[in-house]
Amino acid sequence: MSWQDDFRAAFMPNRPLPPVMLARGEGSTVWDVDGNAYLDLFAGIAVSALGHAHPALVEAVSGQIAKIAHVSPLLTTEPEVKLATRLLELLGLPGKVYFCNSGTEANEAAFKMVRKHAGASKYLVATENGFHGRTMGALALTGKQAIRTPFEPYGADVRFVPYGDAEALRAAVTSDCAAVFLEPAQGEAGVVPAPDGYLSAAREVCDATGALLVLDEIQSGIGRTGTWFAHQHEGVRPDIITLAKGLGGGVPIGACIGVGEAADIFALGDHGCTFGGNPLSSSAALAVLDTIDRDGLKEHAVKIGEQLSAGIEALDHPMLAGVRGRGLWLAIVLAEPVAAAFRDAAQKAGFLVNNVQPDAIRLAPALTLTAEEAQSFLDALPAILDEVAA
Ligand SMILES: *Cc1c(COP(=O)(O)O)cnc(C)c1O
Repeated sequence: MSWQDDFRAAFMPNRPLPPVMLARGEGSTVWDVDGNAYLDLFAGIAVSALGHAHPALVEAVSGQIAKIAHVSPLLTTEPEVKLATRLLELLGLPGKVYFCNSGTEANEAAFKMVRKHAGASKYLVATENGFHGRTMGALALTGKQAIRTPFEPYGADVRFVPYGDAEALRAAVTSDCAAVFLEPAQGEAGVVPAPDGYLSAAREVCDATGALLVLDEIQSGIGRTGTWFAHQHEGVRPDIITLAKGLGGGVPIGACIGVGEAADIFALGDHGCTFGGNPLSSSAALAVLDTIDRDGLKEHAVKIGEQLSAGIEALDHPMLAGVRGRGLWLAIVLAEPVAAAFRDAAQKAGFLVNNVQPDAIRLAPALTLTAEEAQSFLDALPAILDEVAA
């Protein structure tokens, strides 16, 4: 029996068969069970912000698990309180934090806050092709028909607008709207940035109507675009922000932060989560944030991101349509829907990439990716594109 057979026998068919079974990693290099090495250019979907087996993360997590791993929200620990305080400092806004384990849970918390704040009669606005998670509340806000419609109905009136269209947003948000849920750039849709001014327009219409602005920074946050949070590029103040992916560097943790008056929407007993903010995941997240700070990884992400973008843009190839994104969060846009073939050709050449859309390859590597590693991919790119074309 191969591992592929075991995989098919053991798992529900909701996941595709993975192209590779990994055994270990170090930095941005990973090895499969047969000992083949690859350069990891998507870091577990923008999660492993420090790369694999980073000493700071190893030390924080192993030290913490040897002390105490879990206490429940009925008790607390130093790492949990430190992490919440630290996140508020990085956000630079007055607010309060709720911890959970994943992105979808962070958005569930945000959804419940919106419901509590506005009541059941108001509708919500989200974006076409937006992604907010797979649980029923987060899925109700997700604008990707293929994953949403099989699970209808949802207990919410959610109206979808085209992403990046400020006029459509202004028209959709009225005083009967409870909240607008937005990604600062759409991740699962293929790293699609919003035009400049879009988030500011969202802020304005929310101010004018009383709707809450919820920014889903689950993929865009934690230094990935060169700032701690992507909305900081535009200086737009969210009412609620949700985080997960990169925050724990691979250890599951999510956060929902209420800003200003939204900090106190939940009253005692309104929400909770057994594992949320446990000292193990909190220590991991503190190590991630400390390392990003200490090693200047936000600035590094900008530099390496520009190197990758410029290198891709400079390539003249009939299979290549362009590159979009910011920092170490990019999409290689292909001229045809051949992203799966690109992924396979890249893997053969020793690179792991993510075919996020039929015509787009997502690059979301560790923030520690070196200039040499980035260059090795740029050097291999023409041959990968040739193979895809052939
Ligand atoms: C990944 C993602 C989620 C869901 O996070 P999970 O941890 O998979 O539940 C929600 N929103 C955005 C923008 C994401 O990228």
